[in-house]
Amino acid sequence: MKKVAFYTLGCKLNYAETSTISRMFEQKGYLKVSFDERPDIFIINTCSVTENADKKCKKLVREAKKISPNGFVAIIGCYAQLKPKEISEISGVDAVLGAAEKFRLLELLDDFSVQQEARVFASGIQEAQEFHQAFSMHDRTRTFLKVQDGCNYGCAFCTIPLARGKSRSERIDNVLESARQIAATEVKEVVLTGVNIGDFGIQDGKRKEHFIDLIRALDKVSGIDRFRISSIEPNLLTNEAISFVASSERFVPHFHIPLQSGSNTLLRKMGRRYLRELYQDRVEKIKTLMPHCSIGADVIVGFPGETEERFLETYEFLKNLPVSYLHVFTFSERANTRAAEMEDVVPMNVRNQRSKMLRILSEKKKRAFYEENLGKTFQVLFEEDIEDGKMHGFTENYIRVRAKYDPVLINEIKTVTLTEINEKGTVEVWEPEHEVQVHG
Ligand code: SF4
Repeated sequence: MKKVAFYTLGCKLNYAETSTISRMFEQKGYLKVSFDERPDIFIINTCSVTENADKKCKKLVREAKKISPNGFVAIIGCYAQLKPKEISEISGVDAVLGAAEKFRLLELLDDFSVQQEARVFASGIQEAQEFHQAFSMHDRTRTFLKVQDGCNYGCAFCTIPLARGKSRSERIDNVLESARQIAATEVKEVVLTGVNIGDFGIQDGKRKEHFIDLIRALDKVSGIDRFRISSIEPNLLTNEAISFVASSERFVPHFHIPLQSGSNTLLRKMGRRYLRELYQDRVEKIKTLMPHCSIGADVIVGFPGETEERFLETYEFLKNLPVSYLHVFTFSERANTRAAEMEDVVPMNVRNQRSKMLRILSEKKKRAFYEENLGKTFQVLFEEDIEDGKMHGFTENYIRVRAKYDPVLINEIKTVTLTEINEKGTVEVWEPEHEVQVHG
């Protein structure tokens, strides 16, 4: 039996796809092992957004060759689509597969025999038109279910449309079928995943369905306790979807809404499809209907043209907005993007300084969000995430909870009351029989 190992860099979508590809291997009789168990085949699923994607990829190839000198190394994923030739020249790489080819790995590489030269299967991104179903199965607690791929937007800083192609989606009835399969595995939480999931519903280049119909249909699938919407563009987050989540028992009160900048000048320059007023309106709408809802925001600092004044606009905007946490990205120039050619470049030390300021703001906002929720009762889904005799879990509104380890709690949803925040910024809470802590 041949042994195969997988390594994933990047986002939830990549995890979902690696997981699905690994099940394809298992169905063909391969044994899935970890990276250090001397596999015969290594599959590395790469990301184009990751800083130093090239260095990370090279390092993983070197490690793979150290573990199994005669092992076969295949590189797939976004970086493979963007730089197939460059990757094929890395010593130790045996195959590179692009976006349209990665799900055909078993068929294209057949016996995985190492040849003189790396084999490259990477057609132009316009060929990536099919939608491939995927969901992750790495533990019993949570799964990432891919419902959409690609993006038709052209944000000035982004390489994802070049790496993943046009927006396309699974059909609702097929998503429901996957959800039923997931429900049969005892998984408690499904995270809907895609590149631009608010754009769900495009099939063969035409809009056939809508995101709101997807979430309404999923809500009726029995056997899954929670659905979480991973990240959704503010201009695609409709009142209807917000109201639906507010009334749903299973779609949890948590949104992640990319902002990127609080300056309208920069939003226009970035090619985003909304202005700060719309963003504010979405957040206020959510908070009116769900005061306890967690809202995360992505922000980019150091985009070309981000003057001190414009940065402070972003800072003040976020400070005054009831968002619960930030994901801060320091702008870096990516090849073949419009932003890479723009003038008014922000020096790296300024970018880093601004990033630090927003990270501190994020901590403050998170703490304020925890404080607001003290004394309230939530449902925690405990995970098999154990550290120093403690285990972790998340409330429906994305507060991380720590409890004394008890194997009986793993993959169980328990009611807890958040009681106090200690000096480390962690919150002590009590659950009927177990002492638990919430922490940042
Ligand atoms: S919406 Fe913009 S940032 Fe998001 S994937 Fe599409 S192009 Fe990239």
